[in-house]
Amino acid sequence: MAIKNELIKIKAPQFWEEFARGYGISEVILIKGDGSYKSMIIGDIVVINLHYREVGGYRKILDVECYEEVITAKFLHELAHYIKKHYVQKMKQGKIITLEDVCERTLEEILADPCEREAWDFVLEFKHEKPELFQALVESLKACLH
Ligand SMILES: [Zn+2]
Repeated sequence: MAIKNELIKIKAPQFWEEFARGYGISEVILIKGDGSYKSMIIGDIVVINLHYREVGGYRKILDVECYEEVITAKFLHELAHYIKKHYVQKMKQGKIITLEDVCERTLEEILADPCEREAWDFVLEFKHEKPELFQALVESLKACLH
């Protein structure tokens, strides 16, 4: 019988680890929780929760088609927060807004937050400018999860 609130840790694709290392990230951790665990940056570690509600919430912001694209977008989003040092800013302000909160917020609310807007713009630009690399990240996640 499964333990309630059990947190499953899954090794991130090797390709993700190597990609993130180029930005100064030491480790990428994929977790599967009951939804109360957030995707976030802890120091120089990226934590991505594989749980997601539906693609629709993310489609408000960027063109994603499938589950693996959403998770890859979440990964790049958190990476952008790290690169742009948003967590340092937010910690100083005493607030941490995580990606999962986004689904409950309206598009206007999300984009009114300069850090969130910048992180989503990073994902959009990345998808636009490096579609092959984005696809390679998606494919390596698919291979890792199946
Ligand atoms: Zn965010």
